[in-house]
Amino acid sequence: MTVKLSPGQTIGILGGGQLGRMMAVAAKHMGFRIAVLDPKEDCPTAQVADHHVQAAYNDLEAAKQLSGLSDVVTYEFENVDLEVANLLEKEGKLPQGSYPLKVTQNRELEKRVSVDAGLNVPEYRIIQTVEQLKDAVQQIGFPAIVKTITGGYDGKGQFKLEKEEDLQEAVSFIAPDSTYIIEQFIAFDREISVVFTRSQLGEINYFPIAENKHKQQILHQTQIPAAITEQIADKAKETARKLAEELDVVGTFTVELFVNEDNVYVNEMAPRPHNSGHYTIEACNVSQFEQHVRAICGLPLLTVQAFPAAVMVNILGEDREELFRRLTDLPEFHLHDYGKEEARPKRKMGHVTLIGNTLDELLHRIEENKLATW
Ligand code: AMP
Repeated sequence: MTVKLSPGQTIGILGGGQLGRMMAVAAKHMGFRIAVLDPKEDCPTAQVADHHVQAAYNDLEAAKQLSGLSDVVTYEFENVDLEVANLLEKEGKLPQGSYPLKVTQNRELEKRVSVDAGLNVPEYRIIQTVEQLKDAVQQIGFPAIVKTITGGYDGKGQFKLEKEEDLQEAVSFIAPDSTYIIEQFIAFDREISVVFTRSQLGEINYFPIAENKHKQQILHQTQIPAAITEQIADKAKETARKLAEELDVVGTFTVELFVNEDNVYVNEMAPRPHNSGHYTIEACNVSQFEQHVRAICGLPLLTVQAFPAAVMVNILGEDREELFRRLTDLPEFHLHDYGKEEARPKRKMGHVTLIGNTLDELLHRIEENKLATW
C-alpha cells in the first residue's frame, strides 16, 4: 500500500504528547492539517492541532472518528491499542502498519526479532515466578536487570540485581500473573541510538548516530558526534537496517544500542521519532519529525546534512521554572517547551539544544550553565 498526501490534507496522530506536537509543527510547515486523538484536554499536540478527538486511546469509535477526519494516520507512542491499529490498517490509513507496534510493545518480541535478524542482544530469560527468576539469574549471573515485559519506560518497571541479597527485594517486585524479562547487564562503554527514516518504497536515510547519557535511567543528554569508531558506526547502521527490513518500517524509527568494545547490542527500539533525535530539529537540514511526515505522506526523503556538533538536554519538571528564570542568560540555547501544565518531578517538560562546531565547546557551555539538578 502506498499513501500519497498533498498539502492541505490531514494527518491524524494517535497520542497527544510532545512527540505528536513536534510532528504536527513539522507537518504544518508543509501545509498539512492535524487531527489528534488523546484523552487529555489541552494536551501538547492538541495545542497545535486543527481537530482534537478527546477520548481514550483504546476507544474504537473515537479511532474511527480520527480516521474519518484524516487522510493518513500515524502514532507518537508505541503502546497504541492493537485493535485500533488493525482497524486503521484495514482502512488503508496506517502506512506504518501494526506489526512494528506489536513487536515494540513487547520486550520478548523485540529480542526475538533481533535474534532472528542475526543481531546481538543481552542474554535473557522470560520469567513469571520468583523461582524462575532465581534459576534464570543462576544461568545469566550478576549483575542482571529485571524488566516488565510490556509498558515500562524511563526505567519504570525495572529492577537491577547486583548480588545474591538483591533477590530478596526482587520477590516484592514480581507480581503474580505477570511476565518479566531478565537480562544480563551489559557493562557498556557507551549508549548510542540510530534514528533513521524509511520511505514507503524502502529507501533509508540515517541521522548522525547519537550518544546518550542517562541519569536515573532517564535520558539526560544526547550528543553528536557519538565518540565511536567508524567500524562501530557501520555496525550500528547495519543493525538498524536489518531491523528496518525485518519489520518493514515506514517512517522515523529508533534503535537504542549498547556499545561494548567492538560489539553492539540491541537494547530497545521505538517505531517513531525519539527523544534522542530531538537535536535534529536545529542541527540538521531536516528533522526526524519532518522526515517522518515525508515518509508517511509519500513525499521523497531529504538527504540528511548536519552541523558538526550538537547537545540536547532534557528539562524535567523540577528544573523548568529555574530554566525560565534564566532564559535571558542563555542566548545560544534553543528552547523547546511542550506546553504541559503540571511540572511534576521527572516529567519531561521540554529540552534545550546547543549546536556548534565542536562537542567540547558545547559541553563546556552546558557545564558552565548547570541546567539540570537531577
Ligand atoms: P530501557 O528502558 O530498557 O531502555 O532501560 C533504561 C536504561 O537502563 C538503559 O538506557 C540503560 O542505561 C539501562 N539498562 C537497561 N537494560 C540494560 C542492560 N541489559 N545492560 C545495561 N544497562 C541497561
